[in-house]
Amino acid sequence: MKVDPRHSLSVKLLQLVLLWALLAGMLLSLAQILFDLRTVRTSITQDADEILTMFHDPASQAIFSLDKEMATQVIEGLFANRAVHFAAIGHPDEAPLASRERPLSKFPYRYLTDPLFGIEQRFSIPLLGRAPYNEYYGDLQLTLETAPYGQTFLRNSLIILITGLLRALVMAGAVYLVYHVLLTRPLARIIEHISEINPEQPGKMMVPMLPGQEKNELGLWITKINELLDAIERNRSQRHEAEASLLHMAQHDQLTGLPNRSILLEQLSRVLADARRRQRSVAVLCCGLDDFKEVNEKFSYQAGDKLLVAVAERLQSHSGRLTSVARLGGDQFALIVTDVAEPYEVAELAQQILDELSQPFPLDDASVVLQATIGITLFPEDGMDASKLLQKAEQTMMLAKIRSRNRYQFYIASVDSEMRVRRELASSLREALLRNEFHLVYQPQINLTDRRVVGVEALLRWHHPERGLVPPDLFIPLAEQSGAIIAIGEWVLDQACRQLRDWQQAGRPDLRMSVNLSTVQLHHPDLSAMVTRVLQRYALPRNSLELEVTETGLMEDIQAAARHLNELKRTGVQIALDDFGTGYSSLSYLRGLPLDKIKIDKSFTGDLLVDHDDRNIVRIIIQLGRNLNMQVIAEGVESAEQEAYLSAEGCHEGQGYFYSRPLTAAALLEWMRNYEQTLSSVSD
Ligand code: C2E
Ligand code: CA
Ligand code: CA
Repeated sequence: MKVDPRHSLSVKLLQLVLLWALLAGMLLSLAQILFDLRTVRTSITQDADEILTMFHDPASQAIFSLDKEMATQVIEGLFANRAVHFAAIGHPDEAPLASRERPLSKFPYRYLTDPLFGIEQRFSIPLLGRAPYNEYYGDLQLTLETAPYGQTFLRNSLIILITGLLRALVMAGAVYLVYHVLLTRPLARIIEHISEINPEQPGKMMVPMLPGQEKNELGLWITKINELLDAIERNRSQRHEAEASLLHMAQHDQLTGLPNRSILLEQLSRVLADARRRQRSVAVLCCGLDDFKEVNEKFSYQAGDKLLVAVAERLQSHSGRLTSVARLGGDQFALIVTDVAEPYEVAELAQQILDELSQPFPLDDASVVLQATIGITLFPEDGMDASKLLQKAEQTMMLAKIRSRNRYQFYIASVDSEMRVRRELASSLREALLRNEFHLVYQPQINLTDRRVVGVEALLRWHHPERGLVPPDLFIPLAEQSGAIIAIGEWVLDQACRQLRDWQQAGRPDLRMSVNLSTVQLHHPDLSAMVTRVLQRYALPRNSLELEVTETGLMEDIQAAARHLNELKRTGVQIALDDFGTGYSSLSYLRGLPLDKIKIDKSFTGDLLVDHDDRNIVRIIIQLGRNLNMQVIAEGVESAEQEAYLSAEGCHEGQGYFYSRPLTAAALLEWMRNYEQTLSSVSD
């Protein structure tokens, strides 16, 4: 930052000092000139007096003796003085004895001096006889012109004026310099430093002390500025800290440190926007503690507070699965779960949280068991915006509390009852194996060329003690989620292989058994060993066992799947790709896998005759399989027309209600006898 030199303090001062010095110089010079004027005026009279006195005696002598010559000499003597203009000796009534007049001298500034002194001044002195008579003879007259005096006067005045002006100038310059060096320049430097200070961080840079100024007012000023900057900076950081802590206090619950409702809503809005874009589901859980009031009453508020903190900690221990945990106030918490693939997951999580909260909390030498109720809403089903979802979750929680406690409740009744059933099933699934509630049914697989039964697929059935038959599409995913599928799958394999051995020993040595394998089983490290064990247990030829893996299951992690399939293949079993066409398998990926067979999904077979596209897909799959040297089987064959089409396209095998529904072992044996009889009677 620079000051315009015209506005600089020193220049201003220079102007002022100059003005005043000039004015004062002028006034003083004028006074001196006036004084001079007076002196010059008196000096004219004095000169005249002196001249007259000096020439009085010879003039008296001359007029007394009427000596003309002498009078003339006196007059000439008078004219030695430059100022004498006219002189005469004589009696006023007679012609002068001697007189002389000189023309006025040529003086160019006469117009200036004449008004001050007059053009000329007359003087005379009487010429008297000797005492005691003292007779009067006449006068010595003298006229002095003022020009010579005026000339001197003018010159002196000019000198006075010029020296006055010069003095004023020199003084102003000196003051300017002193002022500039002592004040303006250091000030400018200070201003420069100040202007470099960042107003956002006033304490970051100090104004440096100017050398030599430490003890004077400037030094003091700099010190004070620095102190001020320091204070501003301190204040600022204190204010920032205060603001930050205020903000945190406004956004977080002071007791538990969890975000509060408004922050939760903000987070939820963001989560929803993201979920909308990626077409994902989100769940909002509102968790209210049951009977928290009693805890407060029974113990103390401090104890209640401690308990809330402990609850918050337990909730946060799920932070791996939770996007956010917040305290809504009092004894209510809210949780956000993103990327919900299935409501079931949320139900699981809710139950897990309820179970955890019911673990005793140590509290002041005692221990407290808490129960909670959780209301759940799902995005997008139950609402599209954050506040709706949260509000409904809270309502659901309240309603659930009225009915019964220590439970979770979904906002939508249908979801809720479905989840409830599934959870119930999941928990009874754990004991189903021990309670012997499973059995297998078998569905025949027919060779489409010679129409003989070449294999059977083992399908699992669960007979629930209260619910009756539970469809595998419902309980298999539950068993996969809980991991129960490992034990169940091993049981299925064992049962199917034992059954196969029985049939093979009963005269069907070429019969093949297909067993479904869950993806969870496929990734289980013990799978190959387990398969080998079972094959050895029943001394089965290895290729009489076929394991069906689903396409979608493989696609999740193709590299791991390939590794595990190759390992499995080493046991010597056949591998079939189930539900083919429902995933997004590509030719290249099929090639890399050790597959013996592809199984056309029943959805294509079902629409084969009505849907042009499906017909094409089926044809392409068959061609693809044949080209890759794989067997192709179509499942879900329900009619002779479907069979005819598949057969004509070159599909190797068929399976479906057209031949038989899945049957118990005994019923299938019966069915096979009947089937083979009809077959031979047809061929006969
Ligand atoms: P999946 O392996 O595709 O089994 C074929 C399903 O189609 C069976 O249903 C069968 O009853 C049915 N089905 C057979 N023929 C026809 C037909 O002509 N039309 C129609 N519409 N459906 C037919 P299920 O027994 O209910 O099994 C359903 C799914 O459960 C199976 O599909 C399989 O993925 C799974 N599953 C069954 N048993 C087991 C098992 O032991 N282990 C594993 N991991 N999964 C199993
Ligand atoms: Ca299957
Ligand atoms: Ca299938």
